[in-house]
Amino acid sequence: MKQNGTSSNIQSTEMVEVEEIGNDHVFSSIETPMRKDAFAMEDDLKMELIEKHFRHIMEIMGLDLTDDSLKGTPKRVAKMFITEVFSGLDPKNKPAVTLFENKYKYDQMLVEKDISVFSNCEHHFVPIYGKAHVAYISSGKVIGLSKLNRIVEYFAKRPQVQERLTVQIANELKEALQTEDVAVVIDAQHMCVQSRGIRDSGSSTVTAFYGGKFQEEITKKEFLSYLGM
Ligand SMILES: [Zn+2]
Repeated sequence: MKQNGTSSNIQSTEMVEVEEIGNDHVFSSIETPMRKDAFAMEDDLKMELIEKHFRHIMEIMGLDLTDDSLKGTPKRVAKMFITEVFSGLDPKNKPAVTLFENKYKYDQMLVEKDISVFSNCEHHFVPIYGKAHVAYISSGKVIGLSKLNRIVEYFAKRPQVQERLTVQIANELKEALQTEDVAVVIDAQHMCVQSRGIRDSGSSTVTAFYGGKFQEEITKKEFLSYLGM
């Protein structure tokens, strides 16, 4: 991430600033920046418009859209954006969480590790993929284990930066589980770093959020020991 002191040197034009932000992957807010009218349009209309504009992008690049292999691509991309890879932008797709009483009086740490993460970098629209590890200490309520995966998946299916994804998952866990005692670690690879720009194919990025008791060294250590970190 960019050092504060260096940013003023490179902001000679807006274009340069935007490019620098994109390459350094800083982000501006915990909430995904959304327009006020984000859901004024039906999904069908969104897909129709994305199809049209994506076809235009392909044509500008010189691709022949009458080719059998290419002609269905704009429609496929539009459908994939709205119903799959960016479906987490729409709150209607947020997983419903049901809380259960913790009958077993299990008051220890619960860790769900190696949850697959498939997201996309919001600066380049190329994949971010890796693993998320989440943990919580029950406040007397528990949720089904698969819900932890679904919460990760929901927030991953947005244009993202890894830091925001980490915090959004943690905040949702806190709210759903009614406790501050949650932790999230994400270890992910960024295709925008690996396949372009500096082309570092060996690197991965680790981000972490520790809330409540997880800020205590002994609890954090226990959690990280389960992860082998
Ligand atoms: Zn990127």
